Amino acid sequence: MIEGNLPVWPALDVGSGALRRASRDWHDVAVLTTRSPWAIAGQLLTRGTDAILVGGNDRTSLAACAERAARSETVVGIGSGLVMDAAKYVAKQNGQHLLQVPTTASNNACFTRTAWIMEAGVRTPERECPIPRAIIVDRELLATAPVPLNRAGIAEILCSHTALFDWRLAYEAGRPVDWDESLEEATRCELEALETLAPQVATGDVLAFEEIIKACARFAPWFSSHPHARFNAGSEHIFAWGLEAVAGIRLVHGETVALGTILMSLLQGNDPEWAASIIRAARLSFHPEDIGVTWTTVEETLRSLPRRAQMLPWYTVIDTLGSPEQAADRLARLGSEGRSYVDEVKRRST
Ligand SMILES: [Zn+2]
Repeated sequence: MIEGNLPVWPALDVGSGALRRASRDWHDVAVLTTRSPWAIAGQLLTRGTDAILVGGNDRTSLAACAERAARSETVVGIGSGLVMDAAKYVAKQNGQHLLQVPTTASNNACFTRTAWIMEAGVRTPERECPIPRAIIVDRELLATAPVPLNRAGIAEILCSHTALFDWRLAYEAGRPVDWDESLEEATRCELEALETLAPQVATGDVLAFEEIIKACARFAPWFSSHPHARFNAGSEHIFAWGLEAVAGIRLVHGETVALGTILMSLLQGNDPEWAASIIRAARLSFHPEDIGVTWTTVEETLRSLPRRAQMLPWYTVIDTLGSPEQAADRLARLGSEGRSYVDEVKRRST
């Protein structure tokens, strides 16, 4: 059991009819959303509300959203990761209260205080966004999200498999990374629980998707209390973000993280079979041809990792690959080993 002075995050408001119930108490709110979740969520609100559609996560679009929302006391984000980040950003800019209504289990964006935004084509963190006053997970709304999107959320827990390895590397290298054995232990428990959760996620059961969100919620206070601890994001996220940047299109975050977790656990020599077994059991897409990229894009992403790693104040397995020539050589080998391994994992899944 973990003790300590954790920042206060609201208890999840989760279940059947949650949005209708919660929205009875809303007044003076600005809703940020995107088209498809709003088509359903808009019908569930107890009173008619106008919505601001989020067009993208570049600073110019977000500044326009912030201006339109500025007169309200509270910002409500209703949607997927893009909207959660936009709502965080707007609430911070305008000094407003924040309510979050994630409509898929696909990402953990409503549980972190960092909004990722694009600034001149570069992914940039906007930190210290407000902690939401409430996080509302409506069962009926969650059930309407595409199953592959909801399944993808399990990768936001699975990524701790490679992240914990990187975090320990950093600690052993003497980096200031908020090392905490009780947090490491708590994270391992969440990983072990995936062995039971993954087959339930595969069935498409909305209750399993709620369990993903509950696990992400249990991590939330630790992102604030241990800001330098890499217990839930490491080299696999550097890969995942890199893959999206190289591909130049928006990919399903959890699917890129799943591929990243397989490849980085191979690089770490850290039980890739276990990570692959969870991904297979959850029927989560991970193979490049199933997630919208080519292997050439994957190889280009691998080659770019040392450069990308330097853009973040993290220490991961990527920083242990030696000189630029040695790193390039190792990552080129990973490109070919990884390809056969990922193909093999897919063959065993079908
Ligand atoms: Zn993530």
